[in-house]
Amino acid sequence: TPLTIAIDGPSGSGKSTVARAVATRLGLGYLDTGAMYRALTWSCLERGVDLTDRAAVAQAARDLPLAMGTDPAAPSVTVDGTDVGAAIRTTAVSSAVSAVATNLEVRPVLQRLQRQLIEDVAARAGGVVAEGRDITTVVAPDARVRVLLTASEEARLRRRSAELHGSADAAAVEATRDQVVRRDRDDSTVSAFTRAADGVALVDTSELGLEESIAAVLDVVAQ
Ligand code: C5P
Repeated sequence: TPLTIAIDGPSGSGKSTVARAVATRLGLGYLDTGAMYRALTWSCLERGVDLTDRAAVAQAARDLPLAMGTDPAAPSVTVDGTDVGAAIRTTAVSSAVSAVATNLEVRPVLQRLQRQLIEDVAARAGGVVAEGRDITTVVAPDARVRVLLTASEEARLRRRSAELHGSADAAAVEATRDQVVRRDRDDSTVSAFTRAADGVALVDTSELGLEESIAAVLDVVAQ
């Protein structure tokens, strides 16, 4: 049977980089579920859908012409044939995505799509690494491997700051604080990472470099 690896974690835990690397090394597909919430948010902003109108955003989710490229070497996100890989990483989308993701009419729509993608990609590639906030608990609780990647707030701020500003000096870290701390707080009603659920392996990357984090997850897979 295909191998499904579910990885959850907050922003700055390193989960995207680690999940992609694990998929590459094991020759599996890769699914970034956060990119799906971001693509929906981007589409709503583009089309002027009122993000506080829960039913309208849920309808936008059902109608979203979304295609996910699941090659870990070059993951892609396409809406109606347009590559939105860069557009979904803007500050505008990052600031609005929690409002979309905490809409309880939206989540089942994207979760169903994610289960379908996980099944399809796993069948095609022999397995899949799926990462997000609720993969270990809601989307794929039966995954053979389930990992919660955590890191201290300080470590997460440092990493995101380096990613977003190319620097982890004091000013850059402050500029990142809103992105990381606020978004995690806004996401907390739908996230799995406040504690590891039963059977989920906890990997704290606070003191780990990238290679060590990858090795730690590969260790869990090998168990
Ligand atoms: O992982 P990333 O930071 O790109 O995720 C963007 C946002 O998508 C998160 O802040 C969260 O609001 C939402 N999300 C979610 N459930 C997932 C993945 C992401 O609610 N499984």
